[in-house]
Amino acid sequence: MARPDRLDHLALPFFDDSHRALASELDGWSAQHLVGIDHHDTDRTCRALVRALGEAGFLRHCVPAAYSQGAADGRGGRASAALDSRALVVCRETLARHDGLADFAFAMQGLGSGPVTLAGSAALQAEVLPRVARGEWISAFALSEPDAGSDVAAIACTAREVGDAYVLDGEKTWISNGGIADVYCVFARTGDGAGDSAGDGAGDLAGGSAPRRGTRGLSAFLVHAGTPGFEIAERIQVIAPHPLARLRFTGCRVPKSQLLGAPGEGFKLAMRTLDIFRASVAAAALGFARRALDEALAYSQGRRMFGQHLADFQLTQATLGDMAADIDAAALLTYRAAWLRDSGAGDANAGVKGGRRTTREAAMAKLVATENAQRVIDRALQMHGGSGVRVGSVVESLYREIRALRIYEGASEVQRLIIGRDLLSA
Ligand SMILES: Cc1cc2nc3c(=O)[nH]c(=O)nc-3n(C[C@H](O)[C@H](O)[C@H](O)COP(=O)(O)OP(=O)(O)OC[C@H]3O[C@@H](n4cnc5c(N)ncnc54)[C@H](O)[C@@H]3O)c2cc1C
Repeated sequence: MARPDRLDHLALPFFDDSHRALASELDGWSAQHLVGIDHHDTDRTCRALVRALGEAGFLRHCVPAAYSQGAADGRGGRASAALDSRALVVCRETLARHDGLADFAFAMQGLGSGPVTLAGSAALQAEVLPRVARGEWISAFALSEPDAGSDVAAIACTAREVGDAYVLDGEKTWISNGGIADVYCVFARTGDGAGDSAGDGAGDLAGGSAPRRGTRGLSAFLVHAGTPGFEIAERIQVIAPHPLARLRFTGCRVPKSQLLGAPGEGFKLAMRTLDIFRASVAAAALGFARRALDEALAYSQGRRMFGQHLADFQLTQATLGDMAADIDAAALLTYRAAWLRDSGAGDANAGVKGGRRTTREAAMAKLVATENAQRVIDRALQMHGGSGVRVGSVVESLYREIRALRIYEGASEVQRLIIGRDLLSA
């Protein structure tokens, strides 16, 4: 299939032909299926998007190939034997350029099932991952709490060992897909270490995989929706609506067989999962920014003022130049992070391609891509004048969509800390 010009950037040597084919196919599919998506009833729309992306075969890239059998074949290219960061990046960038909710629906299938991919037992992987790949089950990643966002060490949700089960008590908040997910990867405290983070940043989202004070004793569990003692305490509305909730666990029994990885290894597992998906957040930001530039180019060449087009003014040309440079800088860092992870040596992350830790590079990509995208989108909106702030315009929705990306999976400040600490520890 001939690649459209708008995907020319994928000619860079970070990618191989399978990534280019995947982008081209997803771009074509999106142009057909993601036009005029209704963002009002996000629960219904997200369920439909997950189902459609699964049926089309694209969700196979959210799980290792061994578990994508039975998902639609022949669409979306072949899935990788292990999670392939470049496939995730290509999918998120492409989807975000078309529709933010479609990107969200795709991304959460990967993030929400990531701990199962990395550390679930063979039985759990066989139960969960094929259903996620087919779009039959929706997954969620439940780490944050009301008093433990950036400060992961402050997690207070507990999991007590009682016979052949763990009993969960506590709350999680800001949980994407909360309320519509079928399975939740929940991080809770099984051992001591509570309250010893002491405000020095140890055990925060910048912690890397090394156990730090306050993070010892965290474990991860797979919890099915509908498990007695698990309820949705609150649905949360945000400026770019998507399913989001506060979860409550009250004496919620989870069989020991649903522990993900070893007891006490939950923090490392959370950080390994985020290492993979941070580069894909950068890719989503990149997709939003590319769409903003598309809109700015089209609008500035059509809008007449002072007897010329907006694009004829040097001020406009300079602004477009800044936008394009911001996008390319973000793209190079994003593609580098994904490529490094895919091509790294070693097998420290069993089941994951490459295995080289790319925490610093992923943090740089997320920091630069999300901050640059915010700037690019703001410039695009400014260029649209009044119609830029009109509710329902593309740039208005991009302006709302990009904002949370600078906060979740580690705020920009946290990414700076990750990079700085990594430099100092080298
Ligand atoms: C739309 C959305 C979706 C989300 N989805 C999920 C999800 O699916 N699963 C999940 O577990 N969580 C999710 N989150 C939670 C997200 O990861 C947290 O919001 C994030 O980690 C920040 O935590 P917080 O909101 O508690 O802010 P806080 O930790 O209170 O931080 C507030 C601000 O302080 C600043 N800051 C942080 N650390 C430092 C520092 N060391 N020095 C100086 N300043 C600092 C940053 O600007 C930060 O934004 C989501 C959040 C949003 C907004």
